[in-house]
Amino acid sequence: MKLTTSATTIAALLAFISVIGAQEDAVRVDDNSLAGSLTADSGTNTTVSATNDNSKNNNNTTTTTASSSSDSTSTTPTPVSSNTSNSTSTTATSSTPGQLTESYPADGSAPVPKPEWLELIKNANITNAPVLKSNGDDGPNVNGADKYCDWAMSGCMGSSIGSCPKGIWGLTFDDGPSDVSPKLYDFLKSTNQKATLFMIGSNVIKYPAIVKRAFDEGHELAIHTWTHSYLTTLSNEQIVAELKWTELAIKQITGVSPRLFRPPYGDIDNRVRDIGTALGFTSVIWDHDTNDWMLAENAAGFKAEWIDGNFTQWVADASTSSSGGLSLEHDIKLATVDAAIKNLPALQKAYKVVTVGECAGVPSYKEANVPLPKANATTTSSALPKSTMAASTASVVPATTPDAAQSQTVKNINGAAGTTINTALTSAVMGALLFVLSNML
Ligand SMILES: [Zn+2]
Repeated sequence: MKLTTSATTIAALLAFISVIGAQEDAVRVDDNSLAGSLTADSGTNTTVSATNDNSKNNNNTTTTTASSSSDSTSTTPTPVSSNTSNSTSTTATSSTPGQLTESYPADGSAPVPKPEWLELIKNANITNAPVLKSNGDDGPNVNGADKYCDWAMSGCMGSSIGSCPKGIWGLTFDDGPSDVSPKLYDFLKSTNQKATLFMIGSNVIKYPAIVKRAFDEGHELAIHTWTHSYLTTLSNEQIVAELKWTELAIKQITGVSPRLFRPPYGDIDNRVRDIGTALGFTSVIWDHDTNDWMLAENAAGFKAEWIDGNFTQWVADASTSSSGGLSLEHDIKLATVDAAIKNLPALQKAYKVVTVGECAGVPSYKEANVPLPKANATTTSSALPKSTMAASTASVVPATTPDAAQSQTVKNINGAAGTTINTALTSAVMGALLFVLSNML
């Protein structure tokens, strides 16, 4: 999203944004802003070594258990692998990350899929939806009829995970790893809290030691594409490359292959979902947006207190809501990490805060016998219902729902993401904001 509207309306817009969730980190942080120039033939590869600390060697013979959260007696995968096999074997090592021996896509270039990855979708049943035209930073047009279960367009969930059962909260952080990820991990460790971390592949190869730490500390590693692009604007082959290169990087560092992926901006339709399914992945959306990405961007008029307001509302909803929550946060800037640290304790008191895998009752990784990250308490994913695969259709339109002329925008956005309501907002502000939104989204 490019904020081009006037300053006076922007401030109001930012306030209202907290009731929507359709634009996952729609304003991207610079170092992740690789979208917009993707062409299938523009990829140039470069060999990237694990240059961060602890990456000097590749010792897969040590015998310490990888995950401190594990109480399983089953074996864990070796964290070092130069192939893509899903084998599980022997004992995990210490925190030394595996070496990145592949020639990974160069920073800023579009990843090109390996031929063997394309074989995986060759005979798959993939919805023949059109590749959408990108509108630059704004992504594809989300107006109009939704023929292919496009979440950003209509809120259609399809097979995506997007909610958690009553009393359960799925905790997620996108766009890492980054320099500030360790601060978040430190905090999560101090409260024995596990989270799902949707990682950008191009960041993964920059911070292999941080990735390894996240895995070792029991977090659920997941995929957030290689270039943080709008997936509905990419060809089938490009989508394969975005997902598989990220999977491979995480696999080489940790020994495991994530099963979950989140489309940047929540930009997904049935074509994208089908490709993900053919590759063994399950997509994840969200239904509670902290809007911390606006803080990360220093968006004009946006106040950190509004994030606090969101959490306050969610905590208040815990006793009466028929469902739990699945939130969107980012470990990309210090301010977003600080917001999480500030607000998570209250959330933990109101909900059982878990990973997406635990919330939805699905395995975190493709490999067998990988210990599931455990949340604060003792419940495991197998004890939770799988009904959360169903879409959360609760469209929490504020009592101050704007007039009919603007309601279509509201419907699309709220339907897309579920909502939270910043109780400080007034109907007048909302009306103005919706007008702006209708011109922006
Ligand atoms: Zn993102």
